[in-house]
Amino acid sequence: MRATAFVSTRPFDLRTAAPFGISRWTHSDFERFVVELRDGDLVGLGEAAPNARYGEDRARDMDLLADLAPDIADLEGPAGVEMFCEGLAAAGVPALRAGLSAAAWDLAGKQAGEPVWRMLGLARPSVRTSYTIAIGAPEEMLAQARAASAFGTLKVKLGFDGDLDLARRLKLELPETTFRYDANEGWDRERAASALAVLEDLGAELVEQPLPAADAEGMAWLKERTLIPLLADEAVLTLGDLDAVGDAYDGIVVKLAKAGGIASAFALISACTELGLRVLIGCMVESSLGIAAALQLAGLADYVDLDGALLLAEDPFTGIGVEGDLLVASEGPGLGVLPVG
Ligand SMILES: [Mg+2]
Repeated sequence: MRATAFVSTRPFDLRTAAPFGISRWTHSDFERFVVELRDGDLVGLGEAAPNARYGEDRARDMDLLADLAPDIADLEGPAGVEMFCEGLAAAGVPALRAGLSAAAWDLAGKQAGEPVWRMLGLARPSVRTSYTIAIGAPEEMLAQARAASAFGTLKVKLGFDGDLDLARRLKLELPETTFRYDANEGWDRERAASALAVLEDLGAELVEQPLPAADAEGMAWLKERTLIPLLADEAVLTLGDLDAVGDAYDGIVVKLAKAGGIASAFALISACTELGLRVLIGCMVESSLGIAAALQLAGLADYVDLDGALLLAEDPFTGIGVEGDLLVASEGPGLGVLPVG
């Protein structure tokens, strides 16, 4: 990025095609904003998906970015922006950082005429994603799973009364489908232990965040009692969280919106690989703009769950190749994403 880069933000709202429920809440509308970095006619775009679970708020993030705009304009390229983002780590604004990081890489790619994945020294990402069955009425969850026949792997949200009955019915109806599960901190220790026994019988591929993030001791206890890989999501946002809880899990869910951008997610993935921890690259409910940023790194992950844009009633961005459950990153410059219409 050159010293002429100009930063601005634009709010937008995403609506899911169906109400999206997890153990803690159900929503259909999600507040997002686009970070734009402008250099002459070139515009780098990044999506920010602030999450209340991590104390984030769109209005607060956009105000902060407006305050920071003069400093950002002087930064040198994505490396300069990434260092600047690193300096914001203590501010607790990972989604803002992710949006800024993605915009910087998008702009740099457009300036160089290269896709971001190539600038990162990676092969063109071409990966199969799981599709999320969110919490709703059991018949609705079953109908959604049936309708998602293009996906070899479904990720089912658990952590509600009757969740294991639902898991059994899904496996019975779709015996060929691979199932992964996400309790979103929705179980206590005893409940989790009995749930994992059932899910093991069902051939679960993995389970995300069975216990509250703060219960690392409970996780270590639980890990002794199951063969299913247990992945930390809410418990690990960044590299800094890894030391405290790494031992209690078999793997980590890496999201740009938690890690704070492309470079920090890359560093977290590398650290996990070195420690022998598995990596699932995941997302929030995000448009194709946010998903495209995560997709750049998806070839490095053991598991991919980048279905955020596929859950939307309307996607305001386009540029990812989607064929069934196969996601292919664009060969276009930057993130290869364009606004729709
Ligand atoms: Mg999760």
